[in-house]
Amino acid sequence: MVNKVMDNVTVFLPGGYMDCNGSLHQEVEITPLTGREEELLVSQQQREVASLVTEVLQRCVQRIGTVSPVTKDVICNLLVADRQYLLLKLRELTLGDYVRATICCPWPGCGKKIMVNFTIADIPVTESIDKNFIYRMELSLEAAFVSKTGEISREVAFRLPNGGDQELISPLLAQNEAQALSLLLQRCLHSIGSLEHPKQEVIDLLSPLARMEIEQQMEAVAPKVELTMESKCPECGRDYAVPFDIQHFFFGELQTSRDLLYREVHYLAYHYHWSEREIMDMPRPKRRTYIEILAEEIEKLNDVA
Ligand SMILES: [Zn+2]
Repeated sequence: MVNKVMDNVTVFLPGGYMDCNGSLHQEVEITPLTGREEELLVSQQQREVASLVTEVLQRCVQRIGTVSPVTKDVICNLLVADRQYLLLKLRELTLGDYVRATICCPWPGCGKKIMVNFTIADIPVTESIDKNFIYRMELSLEAAFVSKTGEISREVAFRLPNGGDQELISPLLAQNEAQALSLLLQRCLHSIGSLEHPKQEVIDLLSPLARMEIEQQMEAVAPKVELTMESKCPECGRDYAVPFDIQHFFFGELQTSRDLLYREVHYLAYHYHWSEREIMDMPRPKRRTYIEILAEEIEKLNDVA
């Protein structure tokens, strides 16, 4: 069965990109991944996934509001949920809406593989209501910040984590999660009381309660893409909730062998006399549709002979 693949589409970011003049852009024009991106994904399998997401988005995002062309900086400045949302939309545009995946039951003693089926449209997306670059909040009395000189402050200003933060902290996450999260907080905190751009040693003075309050507030104002699979395990009968990693899943789907990609290009070039460039510019389903038509035609010819 061949999925219907569309050309460019326009989607709306649940968060939005705020440019340096403070204008918000939410309308995004995207184009499906082609053979060129498949080649990139196969050749750079060892690369950190956040930076690969940045490169794929930069290639496939044609316009964000009035911002075009879209630079790497712009893609890095997109909020985490906006990047996830764009990846979901790119998956839909490139390979269709229907997803069939395998996850593992997280319960100890089970761990059985579970098939899950869903459509991209089923994934809940929550738009942020309060759209700002900097958000202000007040810590509770118990969570108030006490500086080294004994000054007490409760006012905190932060921005939301973006793609650039993800690229920076994701290699650290595997080694030292606490350190990675501290670094993320330090990058996102704009001020604590009168202290602007607090350094790491200031972040270390925040109590666990203060950190929790800040993280909760960040979550409350951020746009959301709910990528958690929740259901009952058919093997052990217990309820589970497993995060679904759309980046690895989608890139994995496109990472067939380079051999196969080049064989498809050769086959189409041989029969249709199209150039390598033209064929590589096609998304996978389009290439495979032509290959199927060719196979049918060749079979018909064989039947006649
Ligand atoms: Zn189970």
